[in-house]
Amino acid sequence: MAQEIVAAGSYFDGVSARPHPVTLRLGDRLVISGAGIFHDWNPIDIRASETLPPLMRIGVVGSLARVEFEDATLAAVLPTRCPDLRKAEDGTHGTLRIVGWSVAAGLSVLAAAVYGMPLLAALIAPLVPAPVEAKLGEAVDGQVVRILGDPPLCAEPAGQAVLDALVARMTAGQALPPGLSVVVRRHAKANALTLPGARIVVLSDIIAKARTPDEFAGVLAHEFGHAAARDPTRALIQTSGSSFLLSLVLGDLTGSTVIVAVGQAALAAGYSRDAERAADAYSVAMMNRAGGDGAALASILERIAKDGSETGAFLRSHPFTRERAAAIRALAGPDAAGRRILSDADWTALRGICPPLPGKDKGKDKPKPEAPEDAPRSEGERL
Ligand SMILES: [Zn+2]
Repeated sequence: MAQEIVAAGSYFDGVSARPHPVTLRLGDRLVISGAGIFHDWNPIDIRASETLPPLMRIGVVGSLARVEFEDATLAAVLPTRCPDLRKAEDGTHGTLRIVGWSVAAGLSVLAAAVYGMPLLAALIAPLVPAPVEAKLGEAVDGQVVRILGDPPLCAEPAGQAVLDALVARMTAGQALPPGLSVVVRRHAKANALTLPGARIVVLSDIIAKARTPDEFAGVLAHEFGHAAARDPTRALIQTSGSSFLLSLVLGDLTGSTVIVAVGQAALAAGYSRDAERAADAYSVAMMNRAGGDGAALASILERIAKDGSETGAFLRSHPFTRERAAAIRALAGPDAAGRRILSDADWTALRGICPPLPGKDKGKDKPKPEAPEDAPRSEGERL
């Protein structure tokens, strides 16, 4: 490791003109720390602005945050460790776009104080550019998978082919965010999560709990409804509040501690009842269009709500589940029950999307558990 140089400086967050006293530690990385401030900059990304010595002002590519210092040792060593220190920031990193976002997000922080976060989140979510949302989804996905205990992906070829064809058929011609993806992970919790950027994570127990392909497809269509309404992005903005917006300003969306909190929020926080009703209605319409049983979603919702009774969630969620089930059945209409979205053979293939667990030699005739039954149940009903 390179010899560490320590100096005092001032940090500017790129939003307000207020200086924050910080300590700068230059080793293999430049670490900036102060009250509520922690940044770990890669020397390769550090750029210096034109300033009059001894003052030096530096930042990293893609961020408006700046650090100023007057320490002569640091000023002398910095150019030896930051090869591009004097390289001009050009347009290749989308400076204009970032500035535009900074202004928007800066205003948003103000607006949050005036209007409150839920309304603001609803206003902003549709404006988040798709590439930013995709990046956010990728970061949250990593966090969520970690929090769930790294459940393995299930992608047995025959089952995967049925799933891919089903998704393509259901979403054909629908206005869904670009880059929509559906993956299955082996997990003992019957749930499906929609993350920003239309990343849908199906936990395998929901397939095990589904009695018909239409029950599973109905859940999937419900998640597509959340994706179409951009509910995940809205919920994340709402939960993480202005720190999310600030991380957009500072440009460290993926590296920040915000993402850790956001990952937890993605699992813990449900959507509003209105958002759930809207996703239910979306599901029924999509199932009807695809020739499936739109009412099947009601059956699987009721079954999962009953499962929750062991932990007391039953009493809490049941009245709303009953209301949702009734609304779903009314929307689906009387003819829904006769339809099947997949053939028996395709449904069998889809149910086998998770490979058999290795090393389970005893009890060959008993159904294999989908996953260890130690998954936390406290996260609440999240469908
Ligand atoms: Zn939902």
